[in-house]
Amino acid sequence: MPLQKSGLVNTEGTTGPVNVHGHDSRIPSPKVPLALVLFGSPGSGKGTQSKLLVRELGIPQISTGDMLREHVRKGNAVGTKVEAKLKAGILVKDEVVNALVEKRLAQPDAANGFILDGYPRTRAQAEMLCSMLSGRGIHEVVLHLVVDYNVIIARLTGRRQCPVCGTLYNENSKPPKVPGVCDLDGAKLVVREDDREEVIRQRLEAYEKQTRPLLDYFREKGESLYEIDASHETPEQVFRQIEALIRKQ
Ligand code: ADP
Repeated sequence: MPLQKSGLVNTEGTTGPVNVHGHDSRIPSPKVPLALVLFGSPGSGKGTQSKLLVRELGIPQISTGDMLREHVRKGNAVGTKVEAKLKAGILVKDEVVNALVEKRLAQPDAANGFILDGYPRTRAQAEMLCSMLSGRGIHEVVLHLVVDYNVIIARLTGRRQCPVCGTLYNENSKPPKVPGVCDLDGAKLVVREDDREEVIRQRLEAYEKQTRPLLDYFREKGESLYEIDASHETPEQVFRQIEALIRKQ
């Protein structure tokens, strides 16, 4: 379906301005399509900010973690290959993830820009992204969500998710109205398998060793790279900074 000039499309698939606040969207369409790379440690809020961006900009969220979990759920060849890695909090092989992203970016809804959540995570992935974007007229913008380590730990250990609609809650900072139950559909909330403590440790280590060094790569390449203070209590406070940056693109 073609997008309106405003570039906005709501979740029902009909065009028109939509946003989290139920009034006209505040972010005008950027001049050039953007590849918004949400970069940060596990628990830095990439998924939450992605969802706000989807609603404000009408471009799709491409989450490699969600895509991989979906393959595991389906039990297909990719799922079988990656299941153990996800459970252990170890990065999946670059060629597997790169192939998934390449296929996803070829879909028509990615032509007007997209949000990358959890990709790239290694240098090989960053180089692949660069080659996938070259010649497509899409401007890459890296948003580094910076969060204090103790806040990260509190967020990850308290995280609960609705298995039906995917809404995230946190026992400490964003509890559901009824403990253990999704506000939206009443489903019983679950702890993501890789949110167990020893797996959290492994995911944070993978981030420090394999992913954080990409910041130097982005700097060397002269990529648009912005630091966002993402330690704030509410996602909206973080989002306001992102919104201001996008307005400048
Ligand atoms: P988080 O950022 O909180 O760790 P994700 O949902 O992004 O959560 O990732 C969950 C898991 O999926 C990772 O621990 C890893 O096993 C796998 N994964 C996701 N994205 C990638 C990627 N770009 N490269 C390799 N593995 C990935």
